[in-house]
Amino acid sequence: VLEFDINKIRSDFPTLNQTINGCPLVYLDSAATSQKPQSVINAITEFYTSQNANVHRGRHSLSEQATNLYEQARDKMAQYFNVFSNEIVWTKGATEAINLVANGLKKRLDKSHTIMISPLEHHANIVPWQIVSQQTGAKLVSLPLNKNGTLNTLECCEFIKQIRPTLLAITQVSNTLGNITDLSPLIRVAKEVNSLVLVDGAQGALHLKPDLRKLNCDFYVCSSHKMLGPTGLGVLYGRYEELNALDIYQSGGEMIDKVYLTHSTYRPAPAKFETGTPNISGVLGFSAALDYLNELDHGKIQRYEQKLFNYAAKELVMIEGITIYSNLSDNIGTLCFNFNNEHPYDLATLLDGYGVAVRSGHHCTQPLMAHLGVNGTVRASLTFYNTFEDVDIFIHSLKKCIALLD
Ligand code: PMP
Repeated sequence: VLEFDINKIRSDFPTLNQTINGCPLVYLDSAATSQKPQSVINAITEFYTSQNANVHRGRHSLSEQATNLYEQARDKMAQYFNVFSNEIVWTKGATEAINLVANGLKKRLDKSHTIMISPLEHHANIVPWQIVSQQTGAKLVSLPLNKNGTLNTLECCEFIKQIRPTLLAITQVSNTLGNITDLSPLIRVAKEVNSLVLVDGAQGALHLKPDLRKLNCDFYVCSSHKMLGPTGLGVLYGRYEELNALDIYQSGGEMIDKVYLTHSTYRPAPAKFETGTPNISGVLGFSAALDYLNELDHGKIQRYEQKLFNYAAKELVMIEGITIYSNLSDNIGTLCFNFNNEHPYDLATLLDGYGVAVRSGHHCTQPLMAHLGVNGTVRASLTFYNTFEDVDIFIHSLKKCIALLD
């Protein structure tokens, strides 16, 4: 018996109700971007229909209203993560949030420092650190990874103790495999050796709803568009003193205190990182997404997602020739797999013919692909608006595709 009304939930997401190539859409690509509930779409339309004004600048009613709504969204984000509102910076995505931190730390780094990442990282949590390392001379090292794509907690803790990094930048959930890393022991050890910790929460923020005070990281990044909100908006959480200590990333209006022709002073965080007119409609859309998430019972969602995932995994395992790379426990609901030596693009294209949307390729994780010894994979990612019927159609269609390839 389902704990919540899946039909009601699906009716909130208009994109789900359509046919693709003559078949009902089975959307299994929420790890790339989630679909949006009608309330999010309405909030964006409402902003441009009757609330449009710039924030933080005007004394007129519309501007004050826009500013209030914009700042209330920040409060909601802070509450969601159990942190303070002035620890939340709006960015244009998780990618920009990581770049902001990487650039903000640059002046403090030299060749005596070490940045530590893991082989599970999305390119967004690798390339900015490579560039900072090249620019500052700081060493870039990677945690060891088990053959099966999981991190061994004890081994990683030992490694952190031995290397004593200045910064550990690590993902909460692998976007490719869906594997959840138990970050608490790693963060505890990192803190013992005085390392800063940045957590890439792009995949974890929706499914795990982390309490960032408890997690005890210094920085946490995520993207609105993977959490039912619009694209072009991300979040940087920073423990206040660490956030405020970062150097500015971009400069211009809004972030300043006083501007003289030769020099300027800046406002404290978060204002000093939000320069120029922000993505106001995006923030208001995301605010509606947070309302939507807050109305759902998170425990129920998690239990439902686990049931769906276990069902899909059980069916997939039984198909001959399928190799699954994802860990089947401690997973948010992502199945990463290949069929024999077939190209993942071919499988994804054939599945699309049956209305099934999956991702194929390296998923912006080329080092992980190299570790697994493949060029690419197929990735089916489930979330709470998917149904058991979606899984049945996916498995059934996959079998038909395989018959075509064989
Ligand atoms: N990190 C992870 C784990 C991701 O899955 C993604 C998005 N695929 C990103 C970072 C980058 O997020 P965005 O493209 O929204 O900036």
